[in-house]
Amino acid sequence: MPDAPSDPTCIFCKIGTGQIPCHKLYEDETVLAFLDIGPLSHGHCLIIPKGHYVTIDQMPPEAVTACTRLLPGLSRAVVAATGCKGWNILQNNGKIAGQAVDHLHFHIIPRTAGDNLGYRWPAGKLDPAQAKVLVEEITRAL
Ligand code: 5GP
Ligand code: ZN
Repeated sequence: MPDAPSDPTCIFCKIGTGQIPCHKLYEDETVLAFLDIGPLSHGHCLIIPKGHYVTIDQMPPEAVTACTRLLPGLSRAVVAATGCKGWNILQNNGKIAGQAVDHLHFHIIPRTAGDNLGYRWPAGKLDPAQAKVLVEEITRAL
């Protein structure tokens, strides 16, 4: 993408420009998909924009679209290659949310029975009064 930001110190920018190698799955002028070097499961891969954006709120919608449009096809390919029965698509924003690499990325994490990865967060209960305030605040900010 023309004028996309870059950070010469960023490991994923370096992967995006080919300065650091990766096990590449797909590339075009705006995005790259490659295997995660520390896989949580067999076939764990990442999609990154070539532009340096830390979190999704910083991205122009076209850059998000360039990444997310790969999700159906890459998911099908990962399922075909690994035989996984399900998969998680994960995208962490900020350290508190588990983001370790400060260049936005989508994970595709294949799941199999008994993989012990887990994924059950304790659900709360939406309070109607809080919901009313939240709807007002979020829609005002939108
Ligand atoms: P995060 O926790 O930021 O959502 O995930 C970062 C992911 O990037 C981790 O799953 C980690 O294994 C992967 N990763 C970090 N450095 C590299 C690298 O140099 N090459 C590849 N292929 N993956 C990396
Ligand atoms: Zn970067």
